[in-house]
Amino acid sequence: MSAGHETDLAGVDRDLWSATVRASMEMRSDFGISSGKSNRGGTSAHNDGRAIDINRVDGTRFDDMDASAAASLGNRVAAEIVNRLGGRGMEVFTPGMAFRLDMHLSKTSSLNLQGSHYNHVHVSVRQP
Ligand SMILES: [Zn+2]
Repeated sequence: MSAGHETDLAGVDRDLWSATVRASMEMRSDFGISSGKSNRGGTSAHNDGRAIDINRVDGTRFDDMDASAAASLGNRVAAEIVNRLGGRGMEVFTPGMAFRLDMHLSKTSSLNLQGSHYNHVHVSVRQP
């Protein structure tokens, strides 16, 4: 696991952090964390540390992968994390898919969210 120096990992939800570490170990891959707890304003789950963004795997940015590789790997990363969240998963946005576990997204919203996450995986958890 590696992170940019401005990324606040200490403030990340413990369950989310633990699931991310275990997913990384399962995949024997280094996840590059581009965001943890950060003040985004509005209702972003990053505000209180309930979301994490991963923009690199083993040093390669999703942005530098071809679209199908980014989609496939992003989906795997997200699935490995969400499967370890014990039902607390909330938002799952990757280069390959976008859905919420707590509410239905319209097809348009889903495609827009997938499009805006072309270069990273975002996973958030519900309030404890
Ligand atoms: Zn995010």
